[in-house]
This record gives sequence, structure tokens and C-alpha cells, in this order.
Amino acid sequence: MSRPLRADIDLDALRHNYQLACELAPGSRSLAVIKADAYGHGAVACAHALADLAPAFAVATIEEALALRDGGVTHPVVLLEGVFEAAEYVLAAQQGFWCAIHSEWQLAALEATELSAPLSCWIKFDSGMHRLGFTAEEAVEAKTRLEASGKARDLHLMTHFSTADSLSPDYFRKQLAAVQTLASTLELPLCLANSPATLACPEAHGDWNRPGIMLYGADPLEGANDASRRLKPVMTLSTAIIAVREVAVGEPVGYAGRFVATRPTRIGVIACGYGDGYDRHAVDGTPVLVEGQETVLAGKVSMDMMTIDITDITGAQVGSRVVLWGKGLDVNRVAASCDTISYTLLTGILPRVPKCYHGGRQSIAAQSISGTGGTYA
Ligand SMILES: *Cc1c(COP(=O)(O)O)cnc(C)c1O
Repeated sequence: MSRPLRADIDLDALRHNYQLACELAPGSRSLAVIKADAYGHGAVACAHALADLAPAFAVATIEEALALRDGGVTHPVVLLEGVFEAAEYVLAAQQGFWCAIHSEWQLAALEATELSAPLSCWIKFDSGMHRLGFTAEEAVEAKTRLEASGKARDLHLMTHFSTADSLSPDYFRKQLAAVQTLASTLELPLCLANSPATLACPEAHGDWNRPGIMLYGADPLEGANDASRRLKPVMTLSTAIIAVREVAVGEPVGYAGRFVATRPTRIGVIACGYGDGYDRHAVDGTPVLVEGQETVLAGKVSMDMMTIDITDITGAQVGSRVVLWGKGLDVNRVAASCDTISYTLLTGILPRVPKCYHGGRQSIAAQSISGTGGTYA
């Protein structure tokens, strides 16, 4: 018997969520954002599952893009932050990667590099996030220089919204107006919406959108809407009870005795901990599902184990299945108990956790492709 912890990945749910992103933005094409190993879901497997739907993928680094090529993914791949050093341009041109250009140094490096073929360049405009990107004047100059360089083709303009997921519509509108003004001057195709904007702001849908977290079924909106309620969770993290303890009133459980029994308590010990990527900040009261019934974490998360209160769960015993998030338990609720967001929980899952893939039109093909790092049910 092997350790019961696993991440089941529902590739049909992934396809459903991607198709929802497309349905919400019928005038846009959608880059499927699969950076950070597809937010912890396995980038190669997810890319294969979306291969017939998505025209292109997006990642954060050239290593991530090359891993897709190694896994047999032939689609265009956008490097969302462009290159980190000039030598990457040569590889990017050979491999058909599309590059964001956000800074003067990247522009100068491209001008100075000999390429086998011109690169598709996505000029990044800082419309108010103040993280990466050119000012409007710099973006105009960047376009002129890229066109003159002979190194670039298929220019696009992209920007990133800082507040589409929060209740500050004024700042969002300011960003949108800034990029629309610039776009009308530059006459370039626009790449705009992330997941929150895809779900909630049709006016911010561009020629291209960049949905990420929504593909994995986690709702990024502060308040769900009709569209986000249609998302389906892709990852279900589950394990089993490996020991049961009867704990008397006043007795502490786990490190530092954070949980103290206030009634005669049955504690289930489950196989999952921060050494698997579960967040150590989870408070007592963090939800878990045992045999489909909801109960709570009781005691600090250890490296390999956690303790849960199963006093009121009829039938809970060694071997009972425990869902930590996914089907039946929204990852956002767990994130709230950890004072974090779904993004960190999903991307935080460590390689020790086996992934088991289900469904997906392409799953048969993917089975024969190395590098997916999981098994197919
Ligand atoms: C990660 C990322 C996205 C996707 O964001 P989500 O909130 O996950 O949809 C889009 N654009 C850029 C530039 C990103 O870095």
C-alpha cells in the first residue's frame, strides 16, 4: 500500500473552464496561461489536454517554454516577461516563442542580437500596475525601433490590470482607458484580460485574453458572478486517515499544543503536510471533507501529517478518504483559512504528491509523452 495522498487532475474540467473563457469572450482569442507548471497541475499534461482548443500558451520563463517543447507541445508559447538575458532571444526565435518586451534593456538587447528568424514581439505597456512595462511615449518609440530593427514581426500591445479582481472599478477603468488610447495611436492588436477581467469585465476583452487561474477552476473574483459559478475545480487534493486517537478534555494535539480538546475528541491523523505543499498557516477550523462530510483541522500542520476533528463524522476510520480541496470543497475557502489565495495553494503542491490525470480528449496521446510527471487513470 502506498501513501494515500494524491492530486487528481480532471482534464475535462480544465477543458470546460477554457471553453467558458472563450464563450465569455467570443471576440477574443485566449492564451491558456500555464506558467508555474500550470499553477501546479502539470504544464505538459494540461497543454496536451487543451491542444485542440487553445491557439497558444503562455508561461513566465523560457525554461518553462522549453519544457513544453520537450513534452511534445508544438504551439506558439508566449514568454510573459520576455527574456532575462539576450542569449534567450536566439532560442526563442528558433523555437517560435513569442516574447513580451517590457524594458529598454530588452529592446536594446534584441536590436543587438542576430536571429535566425524575426520574433513575434508583444510590447508591454504599464497602464497603472507599475510593475513591468513601458510608458505610453516609450511604447510608441519601442514600436518604431522594433519595426526598424528587422528583428520583430507580429507586434502586439499588452497590459496587465492590477485591480480587475477587487472592488475598485475606478482604477481599473483608468487603466483600460489608458491602454485603449495608446492602442488607437499604435494600431496594434491588444492582449488584455486576465481571469478576473475575462469573467467580470467584457469591456476589457482584447484581441487576445490571458486567462490563468480560472482554467483551474478557482474563482478569482471577490464576489462570485454567474460566469464564475460555472467554473469546475480541476485539482482535487485528497488523502486518507492513517491513525485515530481519542483525546480527553484538556489534552493538546500536535506541535506546540495549539489545539486543546474542549470535549472528548476523536482525532484523525491524515497523510499530508507542509512537506507536500499544504500551507502551514492553516488555522484550527480550516475545512476538510471526510467521506463527504465537512469537518476541521485541529492542531498545527506538520511536515508529513495533519490532525483533524472526526468526533462528529459517523463512520470515519483508518482508511477513510479525506478531501483537502477540490470537488466538494472550494480551494478559496481553504485559502481564506490560510490567509492566502488559491494561487499559492495550487502552485505550492510539491513533487512528492503524485498526480493522477483523468479525462481530456488528448489524454491517450499524452500517456505516450514523457515529462507529464503523472499517471493517467
Ligand atoms: C499570470 C498572468 C496572467 C494570468 O493571471 P490570472 O489571474 O491567473 O488569470 C495574465 N497575464 C500575465 C502577464 C500574467 O503574468
